[in-house]
Amino acid sequence: MIHFVGAGPGAPDLITMRGARLLGEADVVVYAGSLVNPELLALAPGTCEVYDSARMSLEEVIDVMATATSTGRDVVRLHTGDPCLYGAIREQMNRLDELGIPYDDTPGVSSFCGAAASLNAEYTLPGVSQSLIVTRLAGRTPVPESEQLSALAAHGASMAIFLSAGMLERVQEALLGGGYSPTTPTTLVYKATWPDENVVRTCVGDLARDGGRAGIRKTALILVGEFLRGAGERSRLYDPTFSTGFRAARDSARDGSLEGTSRTRGVASHKHASASARTAQTLAAQTRTAQTLADGKPIRIVSFTDAGQALAERLASALGATAWRCVPGGLDGWAREGFAQAEDLVFVGATGIAVRAVAPYVRAKASDPAVVVVDERGRYAIPILSGHLGGANALARRIARICGAQAVITTATDGRNVFAVDEWARAQGCAVANPERIKHVSAALLAGDVVRVWSDSPLSGPVPDGIALATSPDTCDVLLSARASSDEHALRVVPRVLVLGVGCRKGVSSDALHVRLHDILQRTGFDQHALCCVCSIEAKKDEPGILGLCKHLGIPFRTFSATELAAVAGEFSASDFVRRTVGVDNVCERSAVLGADGGKLAWPKDAADGITMALAQRPFCPNWQWNMEVEA
Ligand code: SAH
Repeated sequence: MIHFVGAGPGAPDLITMRGARLLGEADVVVYAGSLVNPELLALAPGTCEVYDSARMSLEEVIDVMATATSTGRDVVRLHTGDPCLYGAIREQMNRLDELGIPYDDTPGVSSFCGAAASLNAEYTLPGVSQSLIVTRLAGRTPVPESEQLSALAAHGASMAIFLSAGMLERVQEALLGGGYSPTTPTTLVYKATWPDENVVRTCVGDLARDGGRAGIRKTALILVGEFLRGAGERSRLYDPTFSTGFRAARDSARDGSLEGTSRTRGVASHKHASASARTAQTLAAQTRTAQTLADGKPIRIVSFTDAGQALAERLASALGATAWRCVPGGLDGWAREGFAQAEDLVFVGATGIAVRAVAPYVRAKASDPAVVVVDERGRYAIPILSGHLGGANALARRIARICGAQAVITTATDGRNVFAVDEWARAQGCAVANPERIKHVSAALLAGDVVRVWSDSPLSGPVPDGIALATSPDTCDVLLSARASSDEHALRVVPRVLVLGVGCRKGVSSDALHVRLHDILQRTGFDQHALCCVCSIEAKKDEPGILGLCKHLGIPFRTFSATELAAVAGEFSASDFVRRTVGVDNVCERSAVLGADGGKLAWPKDAADGITMALAQRPFCPNWQWNMEVEA
């Protein structure tokens, strides 16, 4: 029997369970060595014969398959991504049909899915595009006339272009010829999901130049379309007023759409009963949602010089923004598009350039986006438009924090010192679990209403104006706690204090680690946003499952030597087996406590299926300080 199997885009734990099982049972593996991650071969038995098809002709591949089947052996034919796309599987199947050799096909995660996941992107954003065009430029394989890239580009839909990274000039020309604007976002994703993945964000007009600079010629996808900006209308599927097979529609008057209602309602009156409507979500999905929401409005950054570009790219990666390099005459269109898309604008360059660029589009305080200027050397971040409503002051402060600049704030209320809850959360080392509530709290404070805060850790320092301490967590507008809560009426500020200690046997998948972590969080009642770091022993520093877990959670991985771990004071559960294997009697508890910088064990060793996990909690002493910058 021949099993065609999709290997996934690169990360070895992205193969399907069925594919992994078939590999585990294979007598012979023929893999596409140019793109399939060879680490996957470790799943095959040691006795298995392995062939790299990159060095073989179709005839040789079929020969290997026929010989193996004639002696009753099973063959896995391992293709990159999903074999159904540019896999050349049909020609193999046709030969097998002729020879009467049976086969089946196991799908895989295609690289276009892997690339989207790496970008946290959705190709089908409501109000942006509902179609994805998967295509390629003609190379040795011709492309039918009706499917020429320029013809497909005319749709303006989302696009994933395969097998064409070596022909970026031609791709750019075809996309422009087909009607994409030069400013349409374009991202090159090199080796999506591999450890050496590289992402180059650019626009159609700069694709060839930026791709060339990054040296990307192969094993990359070219993604094109407005979906890359991440904006779009909300989907009907998760709209509270929309019924699905899983959930009845709710009264829209009770959902979060009350934003902007009269000041007398205050913050608490926005309380709504959405908790019951939450569908079961995975840990990963929740993490991503929170990240996406925390990022807020899309931000576009433009620069004009090489030094400016380096700063713009640094800011873009820290802010989840798009960095643009201005071409002569391109600035007007760039600013116009930014205003039209209601994106926040950051100019890395002179204030005068920014003022002239935005002047024609400035309309109203309530609708103009934030505009911030940063000098090329990153010394000053100056909000020049929409300081409050548009959030330019907050954006300037964020930028200042990223590049060590001084935020130059000139608006009056900052002189009045109105408490900024999101800035406070950040300053206290906290995450915001439901950032969509920030605006309710800020609106109330700006309107002069009192906002009630409940914290399960005592807060030191003078309570800011407009804030009162709530008498119970049920009646608060802001809830500061590391504990999970399904209560959506309050803004949930979660201290990042939890350190996860992990020990595991070699090769444990990040999915298995995820599931266990999820289970422990549920049992302990901690909110996932409280996690700040994963720790283990040095011997595990390259363990792909743990690295995958950290990447997914967006938190760092720290490792310690056996000697460092052995020196941690405290009572830990000891295992002779662990001591014999790694030189210290316990990894998960000791590393968690060591990583918690003087904190305590919060959940002891939990061991099963080759995974041990423990949680430690860092000391947390919040105060009311929020306005960290010295402002001019
Ligand atoms: N069947 C595969 C595609 C094979 S064609 C799939 O479903 O992904 C080979 C092309 O796929 C490469 O030229 C590149 O464009 C793309 N590709 C494959 N793996 C990739 C990866 N990890 N990252 C980016 N592009 C990849």
